[in-house]
Amino acid sequence: MIVDLDIQPISDLPEISERPIVIAGPCSAESEEQVLTSAKNLSSMGIKIFRAGIWKPRTRPNAFEGVGSTGLPWLKRVKEETGMLTSTEVANVKHVYEALKYGVDIIWIGARTSANPFAVQEIADTLQGVDIPVLVKNPVNPDVELWIGAIERLHRAGIKRIMAIHRGFSVFAKSEYRNHPHWQIPIELKRRIPNLPVITDPSHICGNRVRLLEVSQEAMDLNFDGIIIESHPDPDKAWSDAKQQITAADLKILLDKIVLRKRDLENGLALTIGELRAEIDKLDDQIIDIFENRMQIADQIGEYKKEQGVAILQSKRWDSILNNRLEMGLEKGLSNDFITRVFRAIHQESINHQAKIMNIDSGME
Ligand code: PEP
Ligand code: MN
Repeated sequence: MIVDLDIQPISDLPEISERPIVIAGPCSAESEEQVLTSAKNLSSMGIKIFRAGIWKPRTRPNAFEGVGSTGLPWLKRVKEETGMLTSTEVANVKHVYEALKYGVDIIWIGARTSANPFAVQEIADTLQGVDIPVLVKNPVNPDVELWIGAIERLHRAGIKRIMAIHRGFSVFAKSEYRNHPHWQIPIELKRRIPNLPVITDPSHICGNRVRLLEVSQEAMDLNFDGIIIESHPDPDKAWSDAKQQITAADLKILLDKIVLRKRDLENGLALTIGELRAEIDKLDDQIIDIFENRMQIADQIGEYKKEQGVAILQSKRWDSILNNRLEMGLEKGLSNDFITRVFRAIHQESINHQAKIMNIDSGME
């Protein structure tokens, strides 16, 4: 069901009217000098919204938990000296009061907080009657309803300028990402609240610098509105999330590499896509014909196995088929996962066919 919320485009703010929206700055505010250096570097390359964590939600209590309210005047200086909008994370009533007192322009609700309806409700109640844009990170767990719920709580408190941040989801299994992107979840969020702007946080998805461009590009290809990315003047020396931060100069290189595609299909393009889709339909037709041929041959082999009283499953043959197809797939740029799933399904269908010939039900779908 579509959730009908009269969310106002956050792009009302001239600073974020262009696409992609880029919010950048250090994971944490560490010192006045670090904050101002970072902001000036970013501002000089055209970044208009500065981020810096003042209160940091850390997994273990002995880690750096942010400079706290001491850092708020530094953000004020950023605003005065660069004209950038400033943003920070709030997780409780005190944070909200302090951030508002020091004129922070945009606040965001972190992933651990948006997973907690009590905390979100408390923040929403505190914001009643305040006109400030609020960014809502996805909850740490992959639950789109919880994400929507947090947005609804703020909206009910009268906050109309809301934007969602997709920062990936924590997983128990070891993963190549720090937080798995599960793109289908923000896609579902956009389907459910069509007018809600969504940006991606490649820094917290990746946890390192290697795939920042890839994840940012994917966000833009999925028609998201922008990115929020961590940038530090001296990333390796950062007091938190050192592995994933990049300098302003590297951020510029990354942004220059992002390819921005058109958001909608124009008439001419729709025609080209129509032709390409017709090609896809033709190829799918051929694939089905090939499956039919393959099953006919599997049937013949089944007849032979029946005559000879040979078992259907020949593990060695199946192993060599799979390994050989994986190799072939790799040469053609097809992932191991895809080839494995496709050939398992084909193999199962062949088994089902041969079981029918032998008059037994394989019991498998
Ligand atoms: C952050 O943006 O610095 C942060 C703590 O992020 P998250 O809430 O996504 O973990
Ligand atoms: Mn961080």
